[in-house]
Amino acid sequence: MQHRITVLFPTPLGCFDYKADNELPVGSFVMAPFGRKKTMGIVWDKAPDMSFDDEKVKMISESLPIDPLPKQTVDFVNWVAGYTLAPVGMVLKMALTPEIEKESKKPLAFALPNPDFKTLTFSPEQQSAVDEIKSQIQDGFHTSLLDGVTGSGKTEVYFEAVAEAIRQNKQVLVLLPEIILTTAWLGRFENRFGVKPALWHSAMTPKTRRDTYKAIKSGEAKVIVGARSALFLPFTDLGLIIVDEEHDASFKQEEGVLYHARDMGIVRAKIAGCPIILASATPSLETYCNAVTGKYHHIHLPSRFAGATLPDIEVVDMRQKEKGPVKFISPALRKAIAETLEKGEQSLLFINRRGYAPLVLCRNCGERLKCPYCSAWLVEHRQGGYAQCHHCGYTIKRPTHCPTCNEENSLVSCGPGVERIYEEVCENFPMARSQMITSDTLSNPVEFDELIQKIHAGELDILIGTQMLAKGHHFANLTLVGIIDADMGLAGGDLRASERTFQLLHQVMGRAGRESKKGRALLQSYVPDNLIIKALKENDRSAFLTEEINARQLLNMPPFGKLAGVIFSGPNEMLTYNTAKNFVAAAPFMTGVEVLGPVAAPLAKLRGKYRFRALIKTSKDIKLQSILSHWMRLVKAPNNVDIRLDIDPYSFF
Ligand code: ADP
Ligand code: ZN
Repeated sequence: MQHRITVLFPTPLGCFDYKADNELPVGSFVMAPFGRKKTMGIVWDKAPDMSFDDEKVKMISESLPIDPLPKQTVDFVNWVAGYTLAPVGMVLKMALTPEIEKESKKPLAFALPNPDFKTLTFSPEQQSAVDEIKSQIQDGFHTSLLDGVTGSGKTEVYFEAVAEAIRQNKQVLVLLPEIILTTAWLGRFENRFGVKPALWHSAMTPKTRRDTYKAIKSGEAKVIVGARSALFLPFTDLGLIIVDEEHDASFKQEEGVLYHARDMGIVRAKIAGCPIILASATPSLETYCNAVTGKYHHIHLPSRFAGATLPDIEVVDMRQKEKGPVKFISPALRKAIAETLEKGEQSLLFINRRGYAPLVLCRNCGERLKCPYCSAWLVEHRQGGYAQCHHCGYTIKRPTHCPTCNEENSLVSCGPGVERIYEEVCENFPMARSQMITSDTLSNPVEFDELIQKIHAGELDILIGTQMLAKGHHFANLTLVGIIDADMGLAGGDLRASERTFQLLHQVMGRAGRESKKGRALLQSYVPDNLIIKALKENDRSAFLTEEINARQLLNMPPFGKLAGVIFSGPNEMLTYNTAKNFVAAAPFMTGVEVLGPVAAPLAKLRGKYRFRALIKTSKDIKLQSILSHWMRLVKAPNNVDIRLDIDPYSFF
């Protein structure tokens, strides 16, 4: 007897009906004719349309000898698609891996981590956090915030939860921002559990990817550490999820399916019926509010381990100008670096901007170097001798003449980037061993590890870096952190500008004085009276949070209201704008729904496409997704205008 089934392919097109000789459970892997080719798809949990003529429904080609996707994965894919309004097939694509049908000759083995390989003696504070966390492993789904200052031992504490889950023979998923998926973290894991965890990230070989995927599906791999995409792996018996640095903006995927891995992690845990632990020294406002209102368990680790103290923080008022040529390192910071060198200790100067200068300007005609495809200036990279658009990658050799007025040697570099700060350090401290740390100069993990080793070995005195060093490292001899431009992130004023600045600078300053030596941090600012700068100086997180919560509440912004961004883009400016206008004109009249825009996006042109944005703001009780999907059906977008929905947007460019 033949059976009707529906098959979902990893494409934007939805489910299709097929016939099969045998009954196939949901999640089964099949090959089926799709267009002119045979394609791999998954038997989906959608009822087939029995009104179709039996003759017209095609047979699947074969059922593949691969264990089906677990039911929980299918449920999760459906849930994420419903929430993000992305095509369910595109979400499924994230839950599959290429070449799954191939057999590896020598598949990788995944050793079982030993929960008792090494045990620590915890401080009383840590011990009570450990007890709390361990007791909850049994309790089914719930969310906890592990809230502790940098260096308080959060990692060691959540390792105990991991150990407990392993003892119960469950799988554990640890999500980390890609940037701290380093050998340093893995080394700590190995120290604690005797073996390396299974890894999941963007730079794996196809074979490792396939073997890991299979080992997770078979339950052989117990602990999986990965970047956000690991959330979609086919766990068979998930018992715990940990999201470290839960506030990190990189958990939001900004291309393809737009989802937030922390938020979807909570959903994944709910489906698995297991606990999830969010760890941070600077929790996101969303998480913090949920912890304060009691929706999440709030577990505190209030102080640094082993008596290490937080650094002393000074704000340098940059409004008092030095005479002479432009300098980006103030006399106060220069003095602090000199003193640190004197003591044989290390300094870290932080500037979150790649390249030499963010802007190149002609002294003669006033024109700036700009990208022909984006509404953006070209960033000068002096070491490489080029200028580059940081949005699309367009690169030119740095010109000797102004491209507009053709004047020779008239181009001047404005503002600092990491290369320029490095140059200034070399001028001021020619005898010091200085090194620049940016993704442009350090491209692979091996080089990065070598650098980390050099810092540990005391072979460097002054580090000048972007975000790369902000997180996850403990350098015993690093006692000074200088923030070149504390105000940089505050400009632009999107919803989370203050929050991000506070989190990032707090993290970076937390690099100073991790062990017995007292640390100090200097924040250079043109707005020293700004509330965030003050809160950073006083190390007063609650002052910042209270202010920020009040502001968001007043404006009904997340987490007090809901937001969705709608981005229209296309090569024809008028047509794109008109589509945006039509969309907004079709808005439902409902109390609690507010539509802002359309307006030209801050990045009005990107890769040759014009961009417009609308923002939808609703009160919390409104079903944003159902309104939006109905609304989208009312609008006919021309072929060359793309409409993207971004539920809970984190970027507003
Ligand atoms: P956080 O994640 O909060 O920044 P970590 O877990 O990284 O803190 O701990 C900071 C440092 O202190 C690490 O080097 C860690 O190994 C060490 N540490 C923390 N707690 C203990 C402990 N109970 N015994 C020994 N070392 C500890
Ligand atoms: Zn560009």
